[in-house]
Amino acid sequence: MINDLSIKRFVVGRLQANCYIVSAKDSHECVMIDPGDLASEVEDYLIDNDFRLKYILITHGHFDHIGGVDYFRNRFGAKVCVSADDAAMLTNPAMNLSEFSFEKITSKDADILLRDDDTLSFGEGIVISTIYTPGHTPGGVCYKIDDVCFTGDTLFKESIGRTDFPGGDFNEILNSIKSRLFTLPDRTLVFPGHGDMTTIKDEKLRNPFVRFS
Ligand SMILES: [Zn+2]
Repeated sequence: MINDLSIKRFVVGRLQANCYIVSAKDSHECVMIDPGDLASEVEDYLIDNDFRLKYILITHGHFDHIGGVDYFRNRFGAKVCVSADDAAMLTNPAMNLSEFSFEKITSKDADILLRDDDTLSFGEGIVISTIYTPGHTPGGVCYKIDDVCFTGDTLFKESIGRTDFPGGDFNEILNSIKSRLFTLPDRTLVFPGHGDMTTIKDEKLRNPFVRFS
């Protein structure tokens, strides 16, 4: 239940990526979704709340979502999780596109490679499940926690992720959204990798990319 979760959003880095801290209200354990940069306000939030960061969950390997991976892993002893099919992007600045951007960004290898329908847990039995949603990248995943879904750059409020980067595929992202995300309950809260939150119900009604294709 979302009542047992607290979700804090930070907008980090030059490309304004969302970094989320999800904590369980009955424990000090938390997880981080997409550490896009080494933002001091994220670190301060973790320290001020005396949180134990158990997992760093990466939705996909583009550089604007992984800039803080090694910093937060080393600072808090968290395990870094990424899908098996995006894992190589962490260590390769050409694959994560930072080579063509402001500066090269890499991290060390992930600690845990995820596949579709894998589960992790934190707090007192709060379950995180992975939903494979390729299309923006070959191994993009969404993370579902209770009635909340973190959708990375797959599904945005009234938009979808770009598919013109290497490894992107427009038909694949549409299929991921329709066959995996739109089969979640309508009430599911959607927290994307950029921009504001939405719901599955609102995206079914209003997302122009999905409605007209
Ligand atoms: Zn991306």
